Amino acid sequence: MDAYVVIGNPIAHSKSPEIHAQFAAQTGQQLTYERLLAPLQGFKAAVKVFIANGGKGANVTVPFKLDAHALADRLTERARLAGAVNTLRFDGGEILGDNTDGAGLVADIVHNAGVALAGKRVLLLGAGGAARGALLPLLEQQPAALTIANRTHAKAQELASQFAEFGRLDAAEFAALQGSFDVIINATSASLDADVPPLPASVFSGATLAYDMMYGKQPTVFMEFARRHGAVTRDGLGMLVEQAAEAFLLWRGVRPETADVFSALRRQLSQ
Ligand code: NDP
Repeated sequence: MDAYVVIGNPIAHSKSPEIHAQFAAQTGQQLTYERLLAPLQGFKAAVKVFIANGGKGANVTVPFKLDAHALADRLTERARLAGAVNTLRFDGGEILGDNTDGAGLVADIVHNAGVALAGKRVLLLGAGGAARGALLPLLEQQPAALTIANRTHAKAQELASQFAEFGRLDAAEFAALQGSFDVIINATSASLDADVPPLPASVFSGATLAYDMMYGKQPTVFMEFARRHGAVTRDGLGMLVEQAAEAFLLWRGVRPETADVFSALRRQLSQ
């Protein structure tokens, strides 16, 4: 049976095995999918052992997404630009690296939340790995404008110049943000510390979708803040399920349905 893993450190909390087990059952695919705890300095060795034992692919999570990028023999365009890899495929002696996080985010906003990004004003908060992974898929939706704001402004400026060829985007400091946005995506890890980026209230309107990539405890502090300013909110659970569906597609050639998997996971997390 084809074998897959999710590799991280820590890894016990990962929901990926449950998600992929449901995808496999739904699509009638025969495969195993397990958690693999790699030592902090032992990512490459753990992957090599898994490949030697016949492994077909892996999801990669914190803190190994940059190691996975370095390990890949070949990268998809979106993984190359993201500078990070969350999905590996082992095929004919080659390690292919992909990044499905941004596609998962876009699928969740556009298909699940039903909010088109084309022609919209979009604000992306953060300039870390999750923000980098989101940029190309977001720009491919052709928003009217995409603004990046980050605590360390220089990092937002770097990203804006690196991705300038793919669409209209700029970098702005939080305090200098002008007017309201249709979609605001929190790709910072501030919610993990119960913190909210210092946004002016004027960025929100009653028509704003405020999306927090964090999931688990709901609502996050960012979602509460956005709701107080009239926005509609969504957490990152759908992104988690959609990025997994994109990985499954890369490995198995079929994209599973995500709605029931999302609902089951939501029920489990709210217990
Ligand atoms: P990184 O560590 O790479 O980046 C963290 C970012 O958050 C940086 O831009 C940092 O700014 C900013 N930041 C951290 N603390 C604060 C704060 N208190 N106020 C303002 N900005 C802050 O993290 P990732 O990009 O990997 O992850 C970001 C978030 O996305 C996490 O919550 C993660 O759980 C989530 N995520 C969700 C996924 C999903 O499937 N739903 C997938 C991937 C990530 P600075 O540059 O100034 O340090």
